[in-house]
Amino acid sequence: MREAFEVRATDTAGRIGELDVPRAGLTVETPAFMPVVNPHVQTISPARLEREFGAEILITNGYILRKSEELRETVLKEGLHDFLDFSGVIMTDSGSFQLAEYGDIDTSTPEILDFQHRIGADIGTPIDIPTPPNVSHATTERDLEATQDRIAAAEVADVGEMLVNAPIQGSTHLDLRERAARHADGTDLDCFPIGAVVPLMNDYRFAEMVEVVAAAKRGLGADCPVHLFGAGHPMVFALAVALGCDLFDSAAYALYARDERYLTVRGTERLADIEYFPCECPICVEHTPDGLREMTDEDRHRALAEHNLYVSFGELRRIKGAIASGDLLELVESRARGHPAMLAGYRALLDHSTELERSDPASKGTFFYLSGESARRPEVRRHHDRLARLVPEGKVLLTEGGTNEQYDESWRVVPPFGPFPRALSETYPLNAEVPVPERSDRAAYEAAAIGTARLVEANPDTEFTLAHRGWPDEALRRVPPSVTITNLDETVADRS
Ligand SMILES: [Zn+2]
Repeated sequence: MREAFEVRATDTAGRIGELDVPRAGLTVETPAFMPVVNPHVQTISPARLEREFGAEILITNGYILRKSEELRETVLKEGLHDFLDFSGVIMTDSGSFQLAEYGDIDTSTPEILDFQHRIGADIGTPIDIPTPPNVSHATTERDLEATQDRIAAAEVADVGEMLVNAPIQGSTHLDLRERAARHADGTDLDCFPIGAVVPLMNDYRFAEMVEVVAAAKRGLGADCPVHLFGAGHPMVFALAVALGCDLFDSAAYALYARDERYLTVRGTERLADIEYFPCECPICVEHTPDGLREMTDEDRHRALAEHNLYVSFGELRRIKGAIASGDLLELVESRARGHPAMLAGYRALLDHSTELERSDPASKGTFFYLSGESARRPEVRRHHDRLARLVPEGKVLLTEGGTNEQYDESWRVVPPFGPFPRALSETYPLNAEVPVPERSDRAAYEAAAIGTARLVEANPDTEFTLAHRGWPDEALRRVPPSVTITNLDETVADRS
């Protein structure tokens, strides 16, 4: 077991955890958002990040600090925390990004880790090779070998109490992502950044991002804190947390601000296009879009960066609240409605329902059926698995209507779950809020029919009758032919 990370609550694969950072003498609550601080350009000072935005952890670039003669001497003398004026946890990056951008850097993993240690970083990073999406399998594999050599060098480096990242690469090759993760998990390193996903996010390829993260998660133990490296847009936070990511870092708040862009949980807007601010942060309450546009460039960029930070921290608080109250998937689903690419990402997440179900708590608040996607949630799958183990006796009525004494047992049927004994009506998730029957959708009926089939197939000697309210033919075709089917709506219509 890794001792640095403890999971306190879970929902889907999302978790609220505690990351112990011994060198800082601090514990960071996850999921956590780490603003990126550029040592040369501080859009918002680290002291303000800590005081006004509640940042417990930030990330800065050890490579840039080492490369600049002037900064290097100062930071070595003062130590990183005094130099940045930040008393929280500081993670340092290694120059991998610069390596990817410029093809060559003048340092090695032992050297840069030693430097990170000497300046007082709390979490350090070796120099991995970030392989972008869609690079050939052979090249990706070669890059991975180099990354693994550096991870091996990091394992033997003498860095005292500093925690060390074991980066996970592998481009868009899921087998390599999983293998890289398994390798990283096998080391005694501490934190696990999933690298080179930023190009996927920038191109709104969220479904592929989900596949890449899910592959990495398959290779990692539940005790591994996972960092979605470079993920700084609040629109992806809920989806990424539901997959099991714990740490996010972002230069986006500042970079987007300099590009006159305004972040929201549904996407990005250009300041030039905004008539009213859809936000309650102090910047948006105190200023109008026109007011911001009239500011000097520097003031405007700072104001936009502040709004972007408020939105990012706010979304993570909302996510933690959702995990605590057991409605993280409802939040993911509402975010998925903000953009078609996010919807694709949510659907890709639901493709992993079986994996998600393992960490999903059996009981939460209330299941809200919000759309056809809800029919594929882990809770529905879990109920179907349970149906295959239940043994009703004699003549059994499965009904969307009331009980009937002609039958030995009379079970309720609720789309998307399917049948269940009436005694379970008040237990999660069967106490779900679902649409009124005539407003349900095909996915819900089909899921209910699949649940019915699971029960019937597990009990071949039992006589079943299904009394439904206007299920479509596509759903009824999934019910085994041995079941007697009646439509309650037609029965009522016949009588009148
Ligand atoms: Zn705002």
